[in-house]
Amino acid sequence: MDIVCTRCGEPWDMDYVRHEEPEGFRRRGGRIDRCPVCPREKPRHSREERERLAAIREVADLLGGDIDGLAATLEDFRLL
Ligand SMILES: [Zn+2]
Repeated sequence: MDIVCTRCGEPWDMDYVRHEEPEGFRRRGGRIDRCPVCPREKPRHSREERERLAAIREVADLLGGDIDGLAATLEDFRLL
């Protein structure tokens, strides 16, 4: 199951984030603020994408370290 970089929108397998390249991500719990493919400049997203990423940040902050819960919630609410 995936979680999402809330800066660039890239989906990442949560096991990869936790175990394969944890040093490549800046994150708090399930909230990813920067990932290995993030562009150097601030990404320019559509309004819909900005709203989606804001919703993901909110859910991730609410769930804290519950990354499994975050991945399930993103899937349930079709935020992936
Ligand atoms: Zn990113």
